[in-house]
Amino acid sequence: MVIFAHYLKNLFGKNPFSMAKIKYYYNPDTCTYEKVKPQASEIALQVGIFSVLSLCLAVVIVYFYSSYYTTEKEQALREENQELLEHYNLLNKELTEVTDILKSLQQRDDNIYRVIFEAEPIPSSVRSAGSGGTDKYRELLKKGLKKEKLILNTKSKIDQLKKSLYIQTKSYDELSKLIKNKNAMMACMPAIQPVANKGLARLTSGFGLRIHPIYKVGQFHPGIDFAAPQGTPIYATADGVVEKATYEGGYGNYVVINHGYGYKTLYGHMSEMKSQVGQKVKRGELIGLVGSTGFSTAPHVHYEVIYNGEQVNPVYYFFKDLSADEYEKILEIASKENQSLG
Ligand SMILES: [Zn+2]
Repeated sequence: MVIFAHYLKNLFGKNPFSMAKIKYYYNPDTCTYEKVKPQASEIALQVGIFSVLSLCLAVVIVYFYSSYYTTEKEQALREENQELLEHYNLLNKELTEVTDILKSLQQRDDNIYRVIFEAEPIPSSVRSAGSGGTDKYRELLKKGLKKEKLILNTKSKIDQLKKSLYIQTKSYDELSKLIKNKNAMMACMPAIQPVANKGLARLTSGFGLRIHPIYKVGQFHPGIDFAAPQGTPIYATADGVVEKATYEGGYGNYVVINHGYGYKTLYGHMSEMKSQVGQKVKRGELIGLVGSTGFSTAPHVHYEVIYNGEQVNPVYYFFKDLSADEYEKILEIASKENQSLG
């Protein structure tokens, strides 16, 4: 204050705080010292200068005070702000964790569930499709938020999570439909042997390259032969509709059943057909009797499984009526290189 007053004194040539000082002058008429009476305009000027200077000083003091010292309210706001920031950071971390959990669900969905139910995996481009980039957050930027990067990051994570969750839910909906249909599909999937085969003695020739019984040359054998006495019952290996029941030079009397879902089965060399075209059959239903019609050297049933138009190894479609041990054994028998019966 003293420095300030000194500065003002230098500026105005007098100390403004000393204006209350009483001044005297010598009156030669009365031979006494008399008080100097200040003029009204001089007083007004002094008061004006003093007021302006006080105001300036007050402004300067308030400015410095508020710069260096915070009020309780400001302090509370600052703490609240810091707390919010910490919450945001925590929220961001938790969002990352939730996103990781969702990723593992997506992987399980694509690599396990969708494989089991033969559904195409969801393309990663669909799963990771953006949700409009950061353009949609421009409003936030306009507001000039100080922690905009953190806030944008959090917002975008939440949006991506919401979208991914929606896609995942849709995927599960689709899978639940497939599960419902799975029972029907399982009934239509070839799953037993076409003849009763206790002790697995009937399987005589497996799928693949085998010696042709008549031509005696290596030839692709597109099915499995089960040797059985003439007249042994032949059963449908899954639910379906009889598509063919006819005679042909190679297969002799043969029946083809269409099971749907891409599966068909063929039963050849029957002595007698016990089913007609268009007939609905159930798994285990009698469709014909074992014989040796067509290219055949002994009574047997030549059994084929056709999946999506291609003959596949029927040995993989006996799972319904075999124990694990029996299944091992039948795989071994079917893999032996021997001569087919036709
Ligand atoms: Zn055969």
